[in-house]
Amino acid sequence: MVGEIRRAKFIGNLLGRRREIVEQVVSEEPYKEDQEDDNDNDNDNDNDVEEIEILMKEQDTETTEARAHVINDCVSLLTAVNEKAELKSDFHRQYLDYAFQIKLPPQMTALDASQPWILYWVLNSLAMLSEDLVSDEMRRRIEEKAFAISPEGGPFGGGIGQLPHLAATYASIEALSSCANSNGSWDKIDKKSIYNWLLSVKQENGGFKTCYSVGEVDTRGVYCALSVASMLNILTDELVENTLQYLINCQNYEGGFGGCPFEDEAHGGYTFCAVASLAIMGALDKINIPKLIDWCATKQYNEEKGFCGRSNKLVDGCYSFWVGGTVAILEAYGYGEYIMNHNEMREYILRCCQDTKRPGLRDKPGKNPDFYHTNYVLAGLSVVEYTFKIDNPKDPFSISAEPRKGVPSSNITAINPVYCLPIDLVKNFANHFK
Ligand SMILES: [Zn+2]
Repeated sequence: MVGEIRRAKFIGNLLGRRREIVEQVVSEEPYKEDQEDDNDNDNDNDNDVEEIEILMKEQDTETTEARAHVINDCVSLLTAVNEKAELKSDFHRQYLDYAFQIKLPPQMTALDASQPWILYWVLNSLAMLSEDLVSDEMRRRIEEKAFAISPEGGPFGGGIGQLPHLAATYASIEALSSCANSNGSWDKIDKKSIYNWLLSVKQENGGFKTCYSVGEVDTRGVYCALSVASMLNILTDELVENTLQYLINCQNYEGGFGGCPFEDEAHGGYTFCAVASLAIMGALDKINIPKLIDWCATKQYNEEKGFCGRSNKLVDGCYSFWVGGTVAILEAYGYGEYIMNHNEMREYILRCCQDTKRPGLRDKPGKNPDFYHTNYVLAGLSVVEYTFKIDNPKDPFSISAEPRKGVPSSNITAINPVYCLPIDLVKNFANHFK
């Protein structure tokens, strides 16, 4: 044992590791018992195994230990043969309808600055389950809420009396686009005022500040600004000056994108924002696509079958869209249809992100469902069950979908992966502003 620790320390020094060697006794006794009956050869093998186990144990972190539990939970759900893998649409609908029937519980005050997000997540989830589930009354109430936050018709803040914010403006426009111009709400949107405000948060380096004077600058801001501008047909050269270079500089050595140029770890959310923005700009060919494909493919785990958002982190249902949506955009633009294993992704969504007792979809087994995960897990299911192509690579609204061969259907609505909205709805909205 002492010899092995010495050996681990020697290898650690050789590799220049900064972490302390942690001494742990790793199930020594069973090996000793086995060894009594084994011949010399087996002794050598056992010693090798023991040495490797000690070295592996040294690498343990909170995340690797947590992942062992997650794998255990997922594998038992994935192999439960009596449970059929199907989307419990009627069950989840109850959870979404609930948002219109009751006051949200006090613990949700943490989302006070994200009120338009809740409108979008709930409405979009219903529309993905079936567009028929969105009633006129729901549309009226969504519009009433959005225009109570910004009676001028935009830009939008996170709630009444809050400063306009890029994320809140994006979520408001997404929610309003799903309202199908009932009550003429699309004509109440003030394009000119939104455009001038977008210019006011634009940065010289090509990024966008989420909020005038005080917000942060990263690829999320770029995506929110470009989505809104393209949907409202106010995307000018002036608005995207230096933005292409800003995004190119966010792709790092891993192949995915960080939040800011040159300095960040690649992340599923930032990667989606960068790739969708590049698609809107018609500039996907300006980045390293093979490295991006590698990065996306290696975010899907063999054991849990779903995606994680960063190298060596835990699987999470929302990355079914953040990474899966990135893969769907790449597919639409002709960069390959086998970047992920669609059937395995579908298994993770249907077996690990649904609970038999509680409606709504969740991050992973053991977590509670919420509106955010319900929206992005359903969006992940949509990009898994459809295959995408684009008629005109300069027009992201020309993306179309058809059922993916070899993947069972849950009758979910096909979304446009660039906007995470039903294909027809977002196309109608953009046409209205042409
Ligand atoms: Zn998540």
